[in-house]
Amino acid sequence: MILVTGAAGFIGANFVLDWLAQSEEPVVNLDKLTYAGNPENLSSLRDNQAHRFVQGDIGDRALVDQLLREHQPRAVVNFAAESHVDRSIHGPEDFIQTNVVGTFHLLESVRAHWSGLESDAKTGFRFLHVSTDEVYGTLGPNDAPFTETTPYTPNSPYSASKAASDHLVRAYHHTYGLPVLTTNCSNNYGPYHFPEKLIPLLIVNALAGKALPVYGDGMQVRDWLYVKDHCSAIRRVLEAGRLGETYNVGGWNEKPNIDIVKTVCGLLDELRPKSGGGHYFDQVTYVKDRPGHDRRYAIDASKIHKELGWKPAETFDTGIRKTVQWYLDNPEWVAHVQSGDYRNWMGQQYGAS
Ligand code: NAD
Repeated sequence: MILVTGAAGFIGANFVLDWLAQSEEPVVNLDKLTYAGNPENLSSLRDNQAHRFVQGDIGDRALVDQLLREHQPRAVVNFAAESHVDRSIHGPEDFIQTNVVGTFHLLESVRAHWSGLESDAKTGFRFLHVSTDEVYGTLGPNDAPFTETTPYTPNSPYSASKAASDHLVRAYHHTYGLPVLTTNCSNNYGPYHFPEKLIPLLIVNALAGKALPVYGDGMQVRDWLYVKDHCSAIRRVLEAGRLGETYNVGGWNEKPNIDIVKTVCGLLDELRPKSGGGHYFDQVTYVKDRPGHDRRYAIDASKIHKELGWKPAETFDTGIRKTVQWYLDNPEWVAHVQSGDYRNWMGQQYGAS
């Protein structure tokens, strides 16, 4: 049994779907269902007895204590977070509350639980914290990619709150011996990605004939990883990562945003040609850049590759094609997100819980 937090969101849902496709080990999924939590992501698990969904907050000590007592998980994987940089600029408080205070409460519950375990269970227990490469700040065009020893210099309220949570996790290992692991991953893309983020926003807006907003000159560089490759990295770290260590996870795929826009538009031209002719790229509109926008992130993932033998299965070309195809194949999922109907989905499918 593992306890996974935030697994109605983009990466967490992909993680649980992959986990249960590959293993019979049950999952308890604790998610607050903020605007980013979409139970429809987990609709294929409706009749799967190995998945239990619990709506709740990682900062709710009584609830988390009870789940740990009741289910005795051998691991906790923490995806729960406020995750959107733009939202953190307009309203940072939720980010501090969940990413910093919530992670602190979760760590306290886990520490209390872990300290009371019998020796074998105690030795085998793991707390895996899922984090981002954004904690490392920004790079110049010729700087070497981030390694696990790059100093933290977060620039947005989002990345600062994730940096704080990473430090807490690290401190719980150093101070209390809690068996923690941390992963810092680059930008993910793939199925079930909420359409406020660049790639799904491009697909959804392009198909709706809307503007494709590009920040500034579109030359901000990011490393991109197909979400299922991130999930396989997390499974690998959980299985064999060294306690207290941090592992950078990336796709060896640095690309300026404008190239992402061109690729997505080109795939849509091929897979769903515009009915009146023309190209989706013509819908691009350059908008004022995000304040404090980091110019470049690049990740050196050689540690996880050399130590744990992990590497991505998808190239950017194969992953982005699968992603665009998934959005074309799942118009209902997109429509429910756009109409807000996904918020009611839980009550309709599971009954209130
Ligand atoms: P997401 O916003 O899609 O999902 C977050 C989930 O957490 C949602 O289901 C939400 O309901 C839940 N949640 C929020 N606050 C909660 C709380 N207090 N208690 C319980 N659940 C809560 O995010 P994502 O893109 O899936 O990211 C998951 C994790 O991976 C985050 O920690 C993020 O920082 C990290 N990460 C994301 C990326 C990326 O490209 N998306 C890259 C690297 C790391």
